Amino acid sequence: MEDLRDKYEVVIGLEVHAQLKTKSKIFAPDGCEFGKDPNSETSPITLGMPGVLPVLNKEAVNMGILTGLALNCEIPERCKFDRKQYFYPDLPKGYQISQYDEPICVNGYLNVKGKRIGITRAHLEEDAGKLVHAGADGLAGSSYSLVDLNRAGTPLLEIVSEPDMRSSEEARNYMEELRNIVRYIGVCDGNLEEGSMRCDANISIMPKGSKEFGTRAEIKNVNSFSALQRAIEYEIDRQIEIVEEGGKVVQETRLWDDNARETKSMRGKEDAHDYRYFPEPDLMPLKISREWVEEIRAKMPELPQAKRERYMSLGLSEYDASVIVEQMGLALFFDEVLKLGASPKIAVNFIMGEIAAYLKETKLEINETKLTPENLVELISLIEKNTISNNIGKQIIVDMMKDGSKASEIVEKRGLSQISDTGAIKEIAQKVCDANPAQVTAYKNGKVQLLGFFVGQVMKETKGRANPKAVNEILKEILG
Ligand code: ADP
Ligand code: MG
Repeated sequence: MEDLRDKYEVVIGLEVHAQLKTKSKIFAPDGCEFGKDPNSETSPITLGMPGVLPVLNKEAVNMGILTGLALNCEIPERCKFDRKQYFYPDLPKGYQISQYDEPICVNGYLNVKGKRIGITRAHLEEDAGKLVHAGADGLAGSSYSLVDLNRAGTPLLEIVSEPDMRSSEEARNYMEELRNIVRYIGVCDGNLEEGSMRCDANISIMPKGSKEFGTRAEIKNVNSFSALQRAIEYEIDRQIEIVEEGGKVVQETRLWDDNARETKSMRGKEDAHDYRYFPEPDLMPLKISREWVEEIRAKMPELPQAKRERYMSLGLSEYDASVIVEQMGLALFFDEVLKLGASPKIAVNFIMGEIAAYLKETKLEINETKLTPENLVELISLIEKNTISNNIGKQIIVDMMKDGSKASEIVEKRGLSQISDTGAIKEIAQKVCDANPAQVTAYKNGKVQLLGFFVGQVMKETKGRANPKAVNEILKEILG
């Protein structure tokens, strides 16, 4: 397969649905909190009763504009809503209110790891309900499905990319950056596993050098970044095989099965005319004034790319900066620590080292631990003042995360302050040398790398509290 891959170019475009974190639904007053009792958030509007009218939720529009600006989109002065008709049991009205030819955001782009990916459009629409099929949720063996309409009417922003990606890796990078952005601007949880962010991947292949795109298949049901990459890889091979055997890829929607690691045909792909789009008669076209756009632009928080660049300008490696930005909780914590004036270098060592390891082990977020930015800053200042060594700092940070204690309290209580008193260190160093005459002789005969052994012994004797610089100097003096 690998050499066959060289004959083809892969073309990928992603359609990403982001569930907007509004309090209420996009056209109805019901709440959209996840995990409520089935069908408890279902007003007559959500149920599509006769005679009800949708009312547009301004917060959803605000979030749409904010996302558009973050994705370098134009926000046209006018957008409108359209009905997309189809029948499905989770869609009570028999149509979905979406935006067809006049979406809220157009012509954007995202720079991802040096590559520019065009964003064709982003439009607002309502989500459908959920079907719970036989076999799921304790319905094993049953022959029916249940309908939960709590999700129906939840606001979605569908972000449609240009077919600009050329590998599964580029697609994953784009998706990860998109996820970072919606999370940092606070419009979406960006959780692929829970479905608050969903991705349809359109994939086609064409002979290398060709200008004409091949027929695409659309892959649904990818619930993680790694599944997205796997699904695309599988689909590329599947399409190459078809073409190599003289067949034709058909335009269709396929479902990714992450357990079986394959895509399966779900349905032929509808064309737009199958949906009989027409303007939603119950909603006026929406005028978005330039003042409105500017008001929202003024609230734009620092975006992930700018954050990475700022961290790098503080001396962080590109890798460290990216790892921290990927974990929003850590990045916001780090920003607080920086604001309090701590040394970025020492702070990063703690965050990327002991803190990240502890969070990974306990599966906690930083704000679920008892560590405060103030306490980390205090710990760092103790290290900078040479009150404690870096090693002692590493020993106590976990306790600080567990019980919220201050570094100075732990140091005081356990007597951990650094021994810089040269007299005391000299005494211990002498003791260590006396106890290891063979090593002393070897050192004096030229085996100078034994210095590390002596330093280690002194550190052990002082439980890591001796000032390492002083220990080195004193030992060299004693050993001659
Ligand atoms: P639809 O709304 O019917 O799914 P669109 O024309 O809006 O169709 O395209 C949907 C997505 O498919 C976009 O992200 C676009 O970039 C991508 N796409 C279009 N043509 C191709 C192609 N030949 N290969 C891969 N992706 C494509
Ligand atoms: Mg589509």
